[in-house]
Amino acid sequence: MQAADYEPVIGLEVHVELATATKLFCACVNEFGAEPNTNVCPVCLGLPGSLPVLNEQVVEYALRLGAALHFDVPEQSIFHRKNYFYPDMPKDFQITQYDEPICVNGWIGVDGARIGIQRAHMEEDTGKTVHVGGGGRIHEAEYSLVDYNRAGVPLMEIVSEPQITSAAQARAYVAELRAVLETIGVSDVKMEEGSMRVDANVSVRRAGSSELGTRAEIKNMNSLRSLGRAVEYEIERQIALLDAGDRVVQETRHWNEDDGRTHSMRSKEEAFDYRYFPEPDLVPVAPDAEMRDRARSSVPELPAARRERLVRDWRISEHDARVLMEVPGLTHYAEAAVAAGGDAVEVTKWSTGEVLGYLNETGLSPEVLPLAPDGLAELVRLVADGTLSRGMAKDVLAVCLREPKRPREVVAEQGLAQVSDESELARVVDEVLAANATTVDEWRKGDEKARGKKRGFLFGQVNRALSGKGNPAVLNRLIDERLSSTS
Ligand code: ADP
Ligand code: MG
Ligand code: ZN
Repeated sequence: MQAADYEPVIGLEVHVELATATKLFCACVNEFGAEPNTNVCPVCLGLPGSLPVLNEQVVEYALRLGAALHFDVPEQSIFHRKNYFYPDMPKDFQITQYDEPICVNGWIGVDGARIGIQRAHMEEDTGKTVHVGGGGRIHEAEYSLVDYNRAGVPLMEIVSEPQITSAAQARAYVAELRAVLETIGVSDVKMEEGSMRVDANVSVRRAGSSELGTRAEIKNMNSLRSLGRAVEYEIERQIALLDAGDRVVQETRHWNEDDGRTHSMRSKEEAFDYRYFPEPDLVPVAPDAEMRDRARSSVPELPAARRERLVRDWRISEHDARVLMEVPGLTHYAEAAVAAGGDAVEVTKWSTGEVLGYLNETGLSPEVLPLAPDGLAELVRLVADGTLSRGMAKDVLAVCLREPKRPREVVAEQGLAQVSDESELARVVDEVLAANATTVDEWRKGDEKARGKKRGFLFGQVNRALSGKGNPAVLNRLIDERLSSTS
């Protein structure tokens, strides 16, 4: 049987940490990277007698997400306890939502397709364990450390329908979802830092079949790229199993970035293993009309509309608009540069080229670049008015991305400014042509090919005499004018 006889089915569970000021059920500060166990209190440490109080901002964010992703928000939703033991969760249960979540039946547009989203619910994050010794794996570790700063941080879990049909579409879904979450300002959506985590449920079935195949759930992908690779690998693994007459086992698998494979981790737990029951310490969440209205009106222009606007108003390609929007903060950066007077097409070119390259290389985000958006606008103007050639601008930009210097400052410091003054350039051209009279003579007598060669040589000499700072467009024109007047 051929691979073409199977079709992949993928459903994604995305967890996002909400960027609220405080945690979900207590007043502890919600921040990444603080000294371990400093943002903790009796509630998030699960001490006896402490009671949870729901953070209103989380409900606001959930409603905003609901409005942005076309969800229904039922009259009321409730919290449940999901019971299990693990040292990163001192209460021995997680407060989450189960069969009455805040958002149901949403969808998101992904490259023209509409992917259904079953639900989105609120829940608390766990603490973080670090296993020391033995390569960081729990079973080989000498001891483990627990940091409860993350315990009780608010999460939204967003669960898609099993409607994604390829690894590429899985990536596109997450990229679009991430762009929406970033745009509505509810999370800083950094897959690398774990504020956005994706689990992929993957199955394959006979093409044309309407029944779902047995799925494996893959964890531990911390970039879009590894998500794509992991799903791709898993699809092939399952097809190979079925082809060999074996069965796919329902289980949780772990993606290993180094060997590029998924590995069996544990058999899949069932809902009844968790003994879900309604959380008795919290009342139902029943947002009133005013809260719902406020949420709807707090949704700004969404990525799809923004892309359309950039393509129309900036006259850039759909592809470039997509590249801009794939990096959190980059569109905002480019928009600010355009607002500061930079030509939109040029700003896009630099943003999706050198700037993006530097961000990828360093893992930085645009807002921390020493080159503020109006600095990029300045660079674009320096090219437009002929002060810098494109090549020089690249060098200047390389400096400004790393050091807090304005492009003009770098130009002045390094004496970089391009010479565009026509009379000065003409003087150098004349000098060089006079000094190379033989070559000029050979150009005059030569055929097409010889002429090209001689002209190239003369251009090189002129360029050298100007230490590469002559405006190439003006030089080309001057050289052509001079040469044609000799023939
Ligand atoms: P859980 O993983 O907690 O058991 P669900 O059973 O609701 O929760 O499924 C979670 C995710 O798995 C959803 O995104 C759903 O679309 C996806 N899913 C369910 N069954 C399949 C399947 N056979 N193949 C691929 N994805 C599936
Ligand atoms: Mg799951
Ligand atoms: Zn707390």
